[in-house]
Amino acid sequence: MEITERSAAHIARDVNGGTISAREVTDAVLAHIDAVDGDVGSYLTVLHEHARAAAARVDERVKAGEKLPLAGVPLAVKDNMCLTGTRTTAGSKILERWQAPYTATAVERMIEAGAIPVGKANMDEFAMGSSCENSALGVTKNPYDLSRVPGGSSGGSAAAVAAFEAAIGMGSDTGGSIREPGAFCNLVGFKPTYGRVSRYGLIAFASSLDQIGPLTRTVEDAAIAYEAMAGWDRMDSTSIKRYVEPVSRELRTDLRGLKIGIVKEFDTKALGAETHAVYEQAYRDLQALGAELVDVTLPTADYGLATYYLIAPAECSSNLARFDGVRYGLRVEGADVNEMYEKTRAAGFGPEVKRRILIGTYALSSGYYDAYYVRAQKARTLIADDFRKAFASCDLIAAPATSSPAFQFNAKSDPYSMYLMDYYTIPMSLAGLPALSVPCGWVTPPGGDCEMPMGLQLTSPLFTESLLLGAAHAYEQKTKHASKHKPLLGEVPVHRG
Ligand code: GLN
Repeated sequence: MEITERSAAHIARDVNGGTISAREVTDAVLAHIDAVDGDVGSYLTVLHEHARAAAARVDERVKAGEKLPLAGVPLAVKDNMCLTGTRTTAGSKILERWQAPYTATAVERMIEAGAIPVGKANMDEFAMGSSCENSALGVTKNPYDLSRVPGGSSGGSAAAVAAFEAAIGMGSDTGGSIREPGAFCNLVGFKPTYGRVSRYGLIAFASSLDQIGPLTRTVEDAAIAYEAMAGWDRMDSTSIKRYVEPVSRELRTDLRGLKIGIVKEFDTKALGAETHAVYEQAYRDLQALGAELVDVTLPTADYGLATYYLIAPAECSSNLARFDGVRYGLRVEGADVNEMYEKTRAAGFGPEVKRRILIGTYALSSGYYDAYYVRAQKARTLIADDFRKAFASCDLIAAPATSSPAFQFNAKSDPYSMYLMDYYTIPMSLAGLPALSVPCGWVTPPGGDCEMPMGLQLTSPLFTESLLLGAAHAYEQKTKHASKHKPLLGEVPVHRG
Protein backbone atom coordinates (compact mmCIF):
# COMPACT_ATOMS: atom_id res chain seq x y z
CA MET A 1 0.00 0.00 0.00
CA GLU A 2 1.26 3.48 -0.89
CA ILE A 3 2.58 5.35 2.14
CA THR A 4 0.13 8.17 1.54
CA GLU A 5 -2.86 5.78 1.62
CA ARG A 6 -2.05 4.24 4.98
CA SER A 7 -4.17 4.99 7.99
CA ALA A 8 -2.81 7.06 10.87
CA ALA A 9 -2.75 3.92 13.05
CA HIS A 10 -0.71 2.10 10.42
CA ILE A 11 1.79 4.95 9.98
CA ALA A 12 2.27 5.40 13.74
CA ARG A 13 2.83 1.67 14.21
CA ASP A 14 5.49 1.61 11.49
CA VAL A 15 7.26 4.77 12.64
CA ASN A 16 7.29 3.63 16.29
CA GLY A 17 8.52 0.21 15.13
CA GLY A 18 11.35 1.76 13.14
CA THR A 19 10.37 0.22 9.78
CA ILE A 20 9.92 3.69 8.27
CA SER A 21 10.94 7.14 9.48
CA ALA A 22 8.69 10.14 10.01
CA ARG A 23 10.91 11.91 7.49
CA GLU A 24 10.18 9.31 4.79
CA VAL A 25 6.42 9.53 5.42
CA THR A 26 6.57 13.32 5.34
CA ASP A 27 8.56 13.41 2.11
CA ALA A 28 6.10 11.03 0.45
CA VAL A 29 3.10 13.10 1.52
CA LEU A 30 4.68 16.41 0.51
CA ALA A 31 5.53 14.98 -2.93
CA HIS A 32 1.95 13.76 -3.30
CA ILE A 33 0.61 17.19 -2.25
CA ASP A 34 2.86 18.83 -4.85
CA ALA A 35 1.49 16.43 -7.47
CA VAL A 36 -2.26 16.66 -6.77
CA ASP A 37 -3.05 19.81 -4.82
CA GLY A 38 -3.06 21.92 -7.96
CA ASP A 39 -6.22 19.98 -8.92
CA VAL A 40 -7.82 19.55 -5.51
CA GLY A 41 -6.88 22.78 -3.72
CA SER A 42 -7.04 21.44 -0.17
CA TYR A 43 -4.35 23.70 1.21
CA LEU A 44 -3.93 27.45 1.47
CA THR A 45 -0.38 26.97 2.74
CA VAL A 46 1.81 23.87 2.37
CA LEU A 47 4.34 23.66 5.20
CA HIS A 48 7.27 21.97 3.43
CA GLU A 49 10.07 23.21 5.70
CA HIS A 50 8.05 23.22 8.88
CA ALA A 51 6.91 19.62 8.26
CA ARG A 52 10.41 18.33 7.56
CA ALA A 53 11.71 19.93 10.76
CA ALA A 54 8.81 18.46 12.75
CA ALA A 55 9.48 15.03 11.23
CA ALA A 56 13.14 15.21 12.26
CA ARG A 57 12.07 15.93 15.84
CA VAL A 58 9.69 12.97 15.85
CA ASP A 59 12.42 10.69 14.50
CA GLU A 60 14.71 11.81 17.32
CA ARG A 61 12.04 11.18 19.94
CA VAL A 62 11.32 7.70 18.54
CA LYS A 63 15.04 6.93 18.46
CA ALA A 64 15.24 7.98 22.10
CA GLY A 65 12.65 5.32 22.92
CA GLU A 66 9.40 7.28 23.04
CA LYS A 67 6.24 5.61 21.76
CA LEU A 68 4.04 8.25 20.14
CA PRO A 69 0.37 7.55 19.32
CA LEU A 70 0.59 9.68 16.16
CA ALA A 71 4.26 9.17 15.29
CA GLY A 72 4.88 10.66 11.84
CA VAL A 73 1.18 11.01 10.98
CA PRO A 74 0.64 13.75 8.36
CA LEU A 75 -1.89 16.29 9.59
CA ALA A 76 -4.01 18.87 7.75
CA VAL A 77 -4.83 21.80 10.03
CA LYS A 78 -7.90 23.90 9.23
CA ASP A 79 -6.78 27.46 8.67
CA ASN A 80 -8.72 28.83 11.64
CA MET A 81 -6.33 27.10 14.04
CA CYS A 82 -3.17 28.88 15.10
CA LEU A 83 0.23 27.34 14.49
CA THR A 84 3.18 29.45 15.56
CA GLY A 85 4.89 31.29 12.75
CA THR A 86 2.53 30.07 10.03
CA ARG A 87 -0.01 32.07 8.11
CA THR A 88 -3.45 31.58 9.66
CA THR A 89 -6.17 33.14 7.55
CA ALA A 90 -9.58 31.68 8.54
CA GLY A 91 -10.18 31.79 4.77
CA SER A 92 -10.56 35.57 4.93
CA LYS A 93 -8.93 38.50 3.20
CA ILE A 94 -8.84 40.30 6.52
CA LEU A 95 -6.28 37.77 7.82
CA GLU A 96 -4.67 36.93 4.48
CA ARG A 97 -1.18 37.83 5.68
CA TRP A 98 -1.56 37.24 9.42
CA GLN A 99 1.01 35.02 11.14
CA ALA A 100 -0.06 33.15 14.26
CA PRO A 101 2.02 34.11 17.30
CA TYR A 102 1.19 30.91 19.20
CA THR A 103 -0.17 27.42 18.64
CA ALA A 104 -3.72 26.27 19.41
CA THR A 105 -3.88 23.79 22.28
CA ALA A 106 -5.52 21.07 20.17
CA VAL A 107 -2.88 21.42 17.46
CA GLU A 108 -0.11 21.47 20.08
CA ARG A 109 -1.43 18.22 21.55
CA MET A 110 -1.48 16.55 18.13
CA ILE A 111 2.13 17.62 17.57
CA GLU A 112 3.08 16.40 21.05
CA ALA A 113 1.55 13.02 20.10
CA GLY A 114 3.84 12.88 17.04
CA ALA A 115 1.66 14.30 14.25
CA ILE A 116 3.31 16.36 11.49
CA PRO A 117 1.34 19.39 10.28
CA VAL A 118 1.86 19.38 6.50
CA GLY A 119 -0.45 22.22 5.58
CA LYS A 120 -3.09 24.75 6.55
CA ALA A 121 -6.35 23.75 4.92
CA ASN A 122 -8.87 25.88 3.07
CA MET A 123 -12.24 26.66 4.65
CA ASP A 124 -15.31 28.83 4.29
CA GLU A 125 -14.48 32.30 5.54
CA PHE A 126 -14.56 32.28 9.36
CA ALA A 127 -16.17 28.80 9.10
CA MET A 128 -19.42 30.20 7.71
CA GLY A 129 -20.66 27.93 4.97
CA SER A 130 -21.19 24.35 3.87
CA SER A 131 -19.19 24.06 0.66
CA CYS A 132 -15.89 25.95 0.98
CA GLU A 133 -17.23 28.29 -1.70
CA ASN A 134 -17.20 31.13 0.84
CA SER A 135 -13.41 30.99 1.11
CA ALA A 136 -11.95 34.30 -0.01
CA LEU A 137 -8.62 32.68 -0.75
CA GLY A 138 -9.05 29.54 -2.83
CA VAL A 139 -11.24 26.87 -4.40
CA THR A 140 -11.28 23.34 -2.97
CA LYS A 141 -12.74 20.49 -5.03
CA ASN A 142 -14.22 17.17 -4.00
CA PRO A 143 -11.62 14.47 -4.72
CA TYR A 144 -14.39 12.05 -5.77
CA ASP A 145 -15.67 14.40 -8.46
CA LEU A 146 -13.75 17.58 -9.13
CA SER A 147 -16.88 19.32 -10.44
CA ARG A 148 -18.39 19.12 -6.95
CA VAL A 149 -17.79 20.82 -3.62
CA PRO A 150 -15.99 19.07 -0.75
CA GLY A 151 -18.47 20.43 1.78
CA GLY A 152 -17.71 22.94 4.46
CA SER A 153 -16.70 24.69 6.33
CA SER A 154 -13.83 22.24 7.00
CA GLY A 155 -13.73 21.36 3.29
CA GLY A 156 -9.98 21.72 2.86
CA SER A 157 -9.23 19.34 5.72
CA ALA A 158 -11.76 16.85 4.33
CA ALA A 159 -10.47 17.05 0.76
CA ALA A 160 -6.88 16.66 1.99
CA VAL A 161 -7.66 13.43 3.84
CA ALA A 162 -9.82 12.04 1.01
CA ALA A 163 -7.09 12.81 -1.55
CA PHE A 164 -4.39 11.19 0.64
CA GLU A 165 -2.69 14.55 1.25
CA ALA A 166 -2.90 13.85 5.01
CA ALA A 167 -4.03 10.94 7.21
CA ILE A 168 -5.87 13.14 9.70
CA GLY A 169 -7.58 16.47 9.15
CA MET A 170 -8.43 18.81 11.98
CA GLY A 171 -11.76 20.53 11.52
CA SER A 172 -14.08 22.69 13.57
CA ASP A 173 -17.80 22.10 13.78
CA THR A 174 -20.25 24.82 14.81
CA GLY A 175 -23.38 23.52 13.10
CA GLY A 176 -22.07 20.64 10.99
CA SER A 177 -18.74 21.73 9.58
CA ILE A 178 -16.93 18.46 10.33
CA ARG A 179 -19.79 16.02 9.75
CA GLU A 180 -21.02 17.46 6.44
CA PRO A 181 -17.64 17.58 4.63
CA GLY A 182 -16.93 14.17 6.18
CA ALA A 183 -20.07 12.81 4.53
CA PHE A 184 -19.31 14.53 1.21
CA CYS A 185 -15.74 13.20 1.06
CA ASN A 186 -16.32 9.58 2.19
CA LEU A 187 -14.74 10.14 5.61
CA VAL A 188 -15.42 9.79 9.27
CA GLY A 189 -16.15 13.30 10.58
CA PHE A 190 -16.34 13.45 14.35
CA LYS A 191 -17.53 16.33 16.56
CA PRO A 192 -16.89 15.59 20.24
CA THR A 193 -19.09 16.88 23.08
CA TYR A 194 -18.90 20.67 23.39
CA GLY A 195 -16.05 21.43 25.78
CA ARG A 196 -14.11 18.20 25.23
CA VAL A 197 -11.47 19.82 23.01
CA SER A 198 -9.92 23.16 23.90
CA ARG A 199 -10.84 26.11 21.69
CA TYR A 200 -7.75 28.05 22.71
CA GLY A 201 -6.11 29.19 19.48
CA LEU A 202 -9.19 28.46 17.37
CA ILE A 203 -10.38 31.65 15.69
CA ALA A 204 -13.85 32.03 17.18
CA PHE A 205 -17.03 31.95 15.10
CA ALA A 206 -19.82 31.11 17.59
CA SER A 207 -18.15 30.35 20.89
CA SER A 208 -21.02 28.44 22.52
CA LEU A 209 -21.07 25.99 19.59
CA ASP A 210 -17.53 25.78 18.16
CA GLN A 211 -15.87 22.43 18.69
CA ILE A 212 -12.69 20.98 17.18
CA GLY A 213 -12.59 17.38 15.97
CA PRO A 214 -10.95 15.01 13.48
CA LEU A 215 -11.69 14.00 9.88
CA THR A 216 -10.24 10.59 9.07
CA ARG A 217 -10.55 7.63 6.72
CA THR A 218 -11.29 5.18 9.55
CA VAL A 219 -13.12 5.23 12.88
CA GLU A 220 -10.01 3.91 14.60
CA ASP A 221 -8.05 6.94 13.39
CA ALA A 222 -10.80 9.26 14.65
CA ALA A 223 -10.51 7.59 18.06
CA ILE A 224 -6.72 7.96 18.18
CA ALA A 225 -6.90 11.59 17.07
CA TYR A 226 -9.59 12.34 19.64
CA GLU A 227 -7.54 10.82 22.47
CA ALA A 228 -4.63 13.04 21.47
CA MET A 229 -6.52 16.33 21.18
CA ALA A 230 -9.19 16.08 23.92
CA GLY A 231 -8.93 17.07 27.56
CA TRP A 232 -9.11 20.00 29.90
CA ASP A 233 -7.10 23.13 29.15
CA ARG A 234 -6.73 25.98 31.58
CA MET A 235 -6.56 28.39 28.60
CA ASP A 236 -10.21 27.67 27.63
CA SER A 237 -12.74 28.35 30.37
CA THR A 238 -15.36 26.23 28.58
CA SER A 239 -13.14 23.18 28.31
CA ILE A 240 -14.24 20.44 30.64
CA LYS A 241 -12.25 18.77 33.39
CA ARG A 242 -13.23 15.20 32.83
CA TYR A 243 -11.48 11.94 32.17
CA VAL A 244 -10.98 11.16 28.48
CA GLU A 245 -11.55 7.43 28.04
CA PRO A 246 -9.09 5.35 26.00
CA VAL A 247 -11.65 5.17 23.21
CA SER A 248 -9.36 3.50 20.69
CA ARG A 249 -9.19 0.47 22.98
CA GLU A 250 -12.95 0.33 23.42
CA LEU A 251 -14.00 -0.03 19.76
CA ARG A 252 -16.75 -2.58 19.29
CA THR A 253 -17.42 -5.18 16.64
CA ASP A 254 -21.14 -5.58 17.27
CA LEU A 255 -24.04 -3.57 18.63
CA ARG A 256 -25.60 -6.20 20.87
CA GLY A 257 -27.43 -4.79 23.84
CA LEU A 258 -27.74 -1.31 22.34
CA LYS A 259 -30.94 0.53 21.50
CA ILE A 260 -30.67 2.88 18.54
CA GLY A 261 -33.28 5.58 18.08
CA ILE A 262 -34.62 6.45 14.64
CA VAL A 263 -36.05 9.96 14.62
CA LYS A 264 -39.69 10.13 13.57
CA GLU A 265 -39.31 13.70 12.27
CA PHE A 266 -36.36 12.81 10.01
CA ASP A 267 -38.35 10.96 7.37
CA THR A 268 -35.84 10.07 4.66
CA LYS A 269 -38.52 9.40 2.04
CA ALA A 270 -38.45 13.09 1.22
CA LEU A 271 -34.79 12.74 0.19
CA GLY A 272 -35.55 10.72 -2.95
CA ALA A 273 -35.78 6.98 -3.54
CA GLU A 274 -32.07 6.27 -3.85
CA THR A 275 -31.06 8.19 -0.73
CA HIS A 276 -34.00 6.79 1.20
CA ALA A 277 -32.85 3.28 0.28
CA VAL A 278 -29.31 4.03 1.50
CA TYR A 279 -30.58 5.07 4.95
CA GLU A 280 -33.08 2.22 5.18
CA GLN A 281 -30.22 -0.18 4.47
CA ALA A 282 -28.03 1.55 7.05
CA TYR A 283 -30.71 1.13 9.73
CA ARG A 284 -31.10 -2.55 8.77
CA ASP A 285 -27.33 -3.01 9.06
CA LEU A 286 -27.39 -1.56 12.58
CA GLN A 287 -30.08 -4.08 13.41
CA ALA A 288 -28.11 -6.93 11.85
CA LEU A 289 -25.23 -5.99 14.15
CA GLY A 290 -27.45 -6.70 17.14
CA ALA A 291 -28.94 -3.29 17.89
CA GLU A 292 -32.59 -2.91 18.71
CA LEU A 293 -34.14 -0.08 16.68
CA VAL A 294 -36.64 2.11 18.53
CA ASP A 295 -38.70 5.07 17.36
CA VAL A 296 -37.83 8.37 19.01
CA THR A 297 -39.23 11.82 18.55
CA LEU A 298 -37.48 15.21 18.48
CA PRO A 299 -40.49 17.52 18.13
CA THR A 300 -38.49 20.75 18.27
CA ALA A 301 -35.61 19.68 16.02
CA ASP A 302 -37.36 21.40 13.15
CA TYR A 303 -36.67 24.74 14.85
CA GLY A 304 -32.95 24.00 14.90
CA LEU A 305 -32.13 25.88 11.74
CA ALA A 306 -33.96 29.08 12.74
CA THR A 307 -32.50 28.91 16.24
CA TYR A 308 -28.97 28.36 14.99
CA TYR A 309 -29.21 31.18 12.46
CA LEU A 310 -29.91 33.63 15.27
CA ILE A 311 -27.46 32.34 17.88
CA ALA A 312 -24.50 31.75 15.55
CA PRO A 313 -24.70 35.16 13.82
CA ALA A 314 -25.24 36.88 17.20
CA GLU A 315 -22.07 35.34 18.59
CA CYS A 316 -20.20 35.96 15.33
CA SER A 317 -21.12 39.65 15.31
CA SER A 318 -19.54 39.93 18.73
CA ASN A 319 -16.50 37.73 18.03
CA LEU A 320 -15.67 39.42 14.73
CA ALA A 321 -15.76 42.92 16.22
CA ARG A 322 -12.06 42.50 17.00
CA PHE A 323 -11.13 42.61 13.30
CA ASP A 324 -11.06 46.37 13.06
CA GLY A 325 -7.75 47.14 11.38
CA VAL A 326 -6.08 47.96 14.69
CA ARG A 327 -4.80 44.70 16.11
CA TYR A 328 -5.03 42.00 13.48
CA GLY A 329 -4.44 41.67 9.80
CA LEU A 330 -5.67 44.02 7.11
CA ARG A 331 -5.91 47.78 7.59
CA VAL A 332 -7.32 50.16 5.00
CA GLU A 333 -6.50 53.76 5.96
CA GLY A 334 -9.26 56.36 6.22
CA ALA A 335 -9.62 60.06 7.09
CA ASP A 336 -10.35 59.18 10.72
CA VAL A 337 -10.57 56.07 12.87
CA ASN A 338 -14.22 55.36 12.04
CA GLU A 339 -13.56 55.55 8.34
CA MET A 340 -10.56 53.25 8.83
CA TYR A 341 -12.81 50.66 10.58
CA GLU A 342 -15.42 50.92 7.85
CA LYS A 343 -13.01 50.63 4.97
CA THR A 344 -11.08 47.79 6.59
CA ARG A 345 -14.19 45.73 7.30
CA ALA A 346 -15.76 46.54 3.92
CA ALA A 347 -12.65 45.33 2.10
CA GLY A 348 -11.71 42.51 4.47
CA PHE A 349 -14.96 40.56 4.95
CA GLY A 350 -16.78 38.63 2.24
CA PRO A 351 -20.56 38.79 1.60
CA GLU A 352 -21.60 35.85 3.81
CA VAL A 353 -19.62 37.15 6.79
CA LYS A 354 -21.14 40.60 6.35
CA ARG A 355 -24.62 39.08 6.17
CA ARG A 356 -24.06 37.21 9.44
CA ILE A 357 -22.66 40.27 11.20
CA LEU A 358 -25.71 42.27 10.11
CA ILE A 359 -28.20 39.62 11.22
CA GLY A 360 -26.35 39.05 14.48
CA THR A 361 -26.06 42.72 15.34
CA TYR A 362 -29.76 43.16 14.64
CA ALA A 363 -30.71 40.16 16.79
CA LEU A 364 -28.66 41.54 19.68
CA SER A 365 -29.81 45.15 19.40
CA SER A 366 -31.68 46.47 22.42
CA GLY A 367 -35.14 46.59 20.86
CA TYR A 368 -34.97 43.08 19.43
CA TYR A 369 -32.81 41.18 21.90
CA ASP A 370 -35.75 39.51 23.70
CA ALA A 371 -37.69 38.81 20.53
CA TYR A 372 -34.79 37.13 18.74
CA TYR A 373 -31.75 36.25 20.80
CA VAL A 374 -33.47 35.33 24.08
CA ARG A 375 -36.17 33.44 22.22
CA ALA A 376 -33.55 31.49 20.30
CA GLN A 377 -31.83 30.58 23.56
CA LYS A 378 -35.13 29.26 24.90
CA ALA A 379 -35.66 27.19 21.76
CA ARG A 380 -32.13 25.85 22.19
CA THR A 381 -33.05 24.61 25.67
CA LEU A 382 -36.14 22.86 24.30
CA ILE A 383 -34.08 21.12 21.62
CA ALA A 384 -31.57 19.89 24.20
CA ASP A 385 -34.51 18.65 26.32
CA ASP A 386 -35.91 16.71 23.38
CA PHE A 387 -32.63 14.84 23.08
CA ARG A 388 -32.56 14.15 26.83
CA LYS A 389 -36.02 12.65 26.62
CA ALA A 390 -35.15 10.62 23.53
CA PHE A 391 -32.06 9.19 25.22
CA ALA A 392 -34.28 7.88 28.01
CA SER A 393 -35.37 5.19 25.57
CA CYS A 394 -32.23 4.65 23.49
CA ASP A 395 -28.42 4.66 23.73
CA LEU A 396 -27.68 6.27 20.37
CA ILE A 397 -29.60 8.07 17.66
CA ALA A 398 -29.10 7.33 13.97
CA ALA A 399 -29.98 9.91 11.32
CA PRO A 400 -28.80 11.17 7.95
CA ALA A 401 -25.74 13.45 8.04
CA THR A 402 -26.90 15.43 5.03
CA SER A 403 -29.98 15.51 2.81
CA SER A 404 -27.96 14.97 -0.38
CA PRO A 405 -24.48 14.05 -1.55
CA ALA A 406 -21.96 16.71 -2.56
CA PHE A 407 -23.43 19.22 -4.97
CA GLN A 408 -21.91 21.06 -7.91
CA PHE A 409 -20.20 24.43 -7.63
CA ASN A 410 -22.64 27.38 -7.62
CA ALA A 411 -25.61 25.03 -7.15
CA LYS A 412 -26.72 26.76 -3.94
CA SER A 413 -26.77 30.35 -5.01
CA ASP A 414 -29.18 31.73 -2.40
CA PRO A 415 -28.02 31.66 1.23
CA TYR A 416 -31.08 29.82 2.49
CA SER A 417 -30.54 26.76 0.31
CA MET A 418 -26.98 26.60 1.63
CA TYR A 419 -28.23 26.88 5.23
CA LEU A 420 -30.55 23.93 4.63
CA MET A 421 -27.50 21.70 4.18
CA ASP A 422 -27.12 21.64 7.96
CA TYR A 423 -30.68 20.63 8.74
CA TYR A 424 -29.65 17.28 10.25
CA THR A 425 -26.47 18.36 12.02
CA ILE A 426 -27.54 21.60 13.73
CA PRO A 427 -29.83 20.12 16.44
CA MET A 428 -26.94 18.08 17.88
CA SER A 429 -24.70 21.16 17.87
CA LEU A 430 -27.29 23.22 19.73
CA ALA A 431 -27.54 20.44 22.33
CA GLY A 432 -23.72 20.19 22.60
CA LEU A 433 -23.84 16.46 21.87
CA PRO A 434 -21.08 14.30 20.43
CA ALA A 435 -21.95 13.28 16.86
CA LEU A 436 -20.20 11.80 13.88
CA SER A 437 -20.74 10.97 10.26
CA VAL A 438 -19.59 7.59 8.96
CA PRO A 439 -19.73 6.47 5.28
CA CYS A 440 -23.00 4.60 4.62
CA GLY A 441 -23.34 4.17 0.88
CA TRP A 442 -23.23 5.78 -2.54
CA VAL A 443 -25.83 7.52 -4.67
CA THR A 444 -25.80 9.04 -8.12
CA PRO A 445 -26.85 12.67 -7.66
CA PRO A 446 -29.36 14.19 -10.09
CA GLY A 447 -27.50 15.25 -13.20
CA GLY A 448 -24.39 13.45 -12.02
CA ASP A 449 -22.65 10.67 -13.88
CA CYS A 450 -20.82 9.06 -10.98
CA GLU A 451 -21.69 7.81 -7.53
CA MET A 452 -21.00 10.05 -4.55
CA PRO A 453 -20.70 9.08 -0.88
CA MET A 454 -23.33 9.59 1.81
CA GLY A 455 -22.90 9.69 5.58
CA LEU A 456 -24.83 8.15 8.45
CA GLN A 457 -24.94 10.40 11.48
CA LEU A 458 -24.72 8.80 14.91
CA THR A 459 -25.28 10.81 18.09
CA SER A 460 -25.10 9.84 21.75
CA PRO A 461 -25.53 11.54 25.14
CA LEU A 462 -23.04 14.11 26.42
CA PHE A 463 -19.57 12.68 27.12
CA THR A 464 -20.28 9.24 25.68
CA GLU A 465 -17.64 9.44 22.94
CA SER A 466 -16.51 5.91 23.72
CA LEU A 467 -19.96 4.48 23.05
CA LEU A 468 -20.32 6.60 19.91
CA LEU A 469 -16.98 5.73 18.32
CA GLY A 470 -17.36 2.12 19.45
CA ALA A 471 -20.69 1.78 17.66
CA ALA A 472 -19.46 3.58 14.54
CA HIS A 473 -16.54 1.18 14.40
CA ALA A 474 -18.82 -1.87 14.47
CA TYR A 475 -20.90 -0.39 11.64
CA GLU A 476 -17.84 0.57 9.58
CA GLN A 477 -16.24 -2.85 9.94
CA LYS A 478 -19.41 -4.64 8.84
CA THR A 479 -20.33 -2.42 5.91
CA LYS A 480 -17.01 -1.13 4.54
CA HIS A 481 -18.79 1.43 2.35
CA ALA A 482 -15.80 3.76 2.28
CA SER A 483 -13.69 1.32 0.27
CA LYS A 484 -16.14 0.97 -2.64
CA HIS A 485 -14.56 3.77 -4.70
CA LYS A 486 -11.22 5.49 -4.54
CA PRO A 487 -10.58 9.02 -5.73
CA LEU A 488 -8.73 8.94 -9.02
CA LEU A 489 -7.36 12.42 -8.93
CA GLY A 490 -7.11 14.61 -11.96
CA GLU A 491 -9.90 13.04 -13.99
CA VAL A 492 -13.42 14.45 -14.10
CA PRO A 493 -15.49 12.58 -13.08
CA VAL A 494 -13.18 10.28 -11.24
CA HIS A 495 -15.25 7.10 -11.27
CA ARG A 496 -18.46 5.78 -12.74
CA GLY A 497 -21.30 4.36 -10.69
N1 GLN B 1 -22.83 25.65 7.61
C1 GLN B 1 -23.08 26.18 8.91
C2 GLN B 1 -22.83 27.68 8.88
O1 GLN B 1 -22.63 28.18 7.84
C3 GLN B 1 -22.19 25.51 9.92
C4 GLN B 1 -20.79 25.99 9.85
C5 GLN B 1 -19.91 25.38 10.88
O2 GLN B 1 -20.23 24.36 11.48
N2 GLN B 1 -18.80 26.04 11.11
O3 GLN B 1 -22.86 28.34 9.86
